[in-house]
Amino acid sequence: MRFFARLGRAFASRPPPATRAVLQASAIPISGAAAATATAAMAVYSSTVSTLEAAPDVPEEARLGAHHVRGANGETIRFRNRHPSAGVAPPSTFAMLGKILWAQLTGAMRFPDTSAVEIPTAAPDFRTARTGSTALRATWLGHACYLVEFPSGLRVLFDPVFEDRCAPVQWLGPRRYSPPACALADLPPVDAVVISHSHYDHLSHTSVRALAERNPAAHFFVGLGLESWFRASGISRVTEMDWWQDAEFVLHKDEARSAGAVDAAAAPDTIVARITCFPCQHSSGRTISDKDRTLWASWAVASGGKSVWFGGDTGYRRVPEVPADVDDYGPAYDSLPRCGQFRDIGALRGPFDLGLIPIGAYRPRWLFSWMHANPYDAVEIFKDTRCKQAMGIHWGTWALTTEDVEEPPRLLREALKKSGIAETGVFDVCAVGETREF
Ligand SMILES: [Zn+2]
Ligand SMILES: [Zn+2]
Repeated sequence: MRFFARLGRAFASRPPPATRAVLQASAIPISGAAAATATAAMAVYSSTVSTLEAAPDVPEEARLGAHHVRGANGETIRFRNRHPSAGVAPPSTFAMLGKILWAQLTGAMRFPDTSAVEIPTAAPDFRTARTGSTALRATWLGHACYLVEFPSGLRVLFDPVFEDRCAPVQWLGPRRYSPPACALADLPPVDAVVISHSHYDHLSHTSVRALAERNPAAHFFVGLGLESWFRASGISRVTEMDWWQDAEFVLHKDEARSAGAVDAAAAPDTIVARITCFPCQHSSGRTISDKDRTLWASWAVASGGKSVWFGGDTGYRRVPEVPADVDDYGPAYDSLPRCGQFRDIGALRGPFDLGLIPIGAYRPRWLFSWMHANPYDAVEIFKDTRCKQAMGIHWGTWALTTEDVEEPPRLLREALKKSGIAETGVFDVCAVGETREF
């Protein structure tokens, strides 16, 4: 019955005071580039994207397109997880909804009380100048959204969702329990927007439209099948990519339009980046009829001598229902298959300077483990992908599942300790809005 009570509250509720219009400037004091953009013009760039021939070392299953489900004429009609770690046949949308509803009705699945939760927040500290640092600068904007500034001057935004709810409508669905770090209008100019998949907590129609409007030269990188959705949304600067596909992304400064820009002195003439679409273990869908019709992906971006691997949203193993006090990484579960795709990514393209790895939305494990990593899975993914350092994402923003919303950072420390990794300084969590250098 709690489910229906929650549903009723969702219908009746109004946006909280923290909600802001997507384009409206934030009341949070922002330092660096955002403050500069509010008052002065920044250097203007145009870009070109070239998708590259498949590299010779791409795993055979990817080269053969084993994750494509083909129709009668050989065309791709949807995508699938090929590894046993996802389960033989991941549940359909109806089956998942049925299981969730039943678990709600029987009391086996209770969403956490977020009314007293206070996730630490900080004011983002974006760079004003594009260059002048040899470090990666990464700012967590809540959930899976990260803005990464590369030493080359490139700025990449991952999975931007700035609305109060991650849902088809803004009057129903999970609401933020931590306010957004800043408004979309506070961001510095963005060159590339990378989208992991179509779920509402990762892809917002309102946010991507607003971003394209504010950044007319920004290019969107998406998984196969999503390009038409972007074009239908009025966004034509979009490239869809398959797993293990690389693209060269080159920015050229427009000298005439950059004259007098506040960042002109530190705005390079050319910025070059390599963007790669990689596998993960997940699903996709925005309606009840489009499940898995578009590709889910993790991504890597390398530019100016630094690299980021963005995990987006992924599972690692599928675990059965076990009592709450039993460790599903214990000896009895050692033989459960792991998603081998992360080892391939690490072995063939690692190491990465920074991993952005999901650590939340995992309980009940028997229901969500195949598609959402818990912190123990996340540490295994961190090791497999050979990231030098990592930050936890996909937590602290919306209560999508039943774990205590402050549990993921706690379990992350336990998982790091169990793996013999320092509990801080290697794979951390930070405040919403916090900027760190790597
Ligand atoms: Zn998802
Ligand atoms: Zn998600």
